[in-house]
Amino acid sequence: MFGSGKKKACWIRKTHLFRADEYVCSACGRRFDRPYVQCPGCGRNMSGSKYDPTWVDEAEITDLLD
Ligand SMILES: [Zn+2]
Repeated sequence: MFGSGKKKACWIRKTHLFRADEYVCSACGRRFDRPYVQCPGCGRNMSGSKYDPTWVDEAEITDLLD
């Protein structure tokens, strides 16, 4: 590690009811199927992932399918 001052970013977890979760890079916005240590898209070091409930737009469907 060189401490080059690279900005850190984090993954925003986007859940889907009918397919696998996605992780969206907070820096470049690219989506991946897992939270990598480093974003394959922009190369930033990722500080972790956070769950953003605002992404769960499909959740309301659950009531209809029950
Ligand atoms: Zn990125």
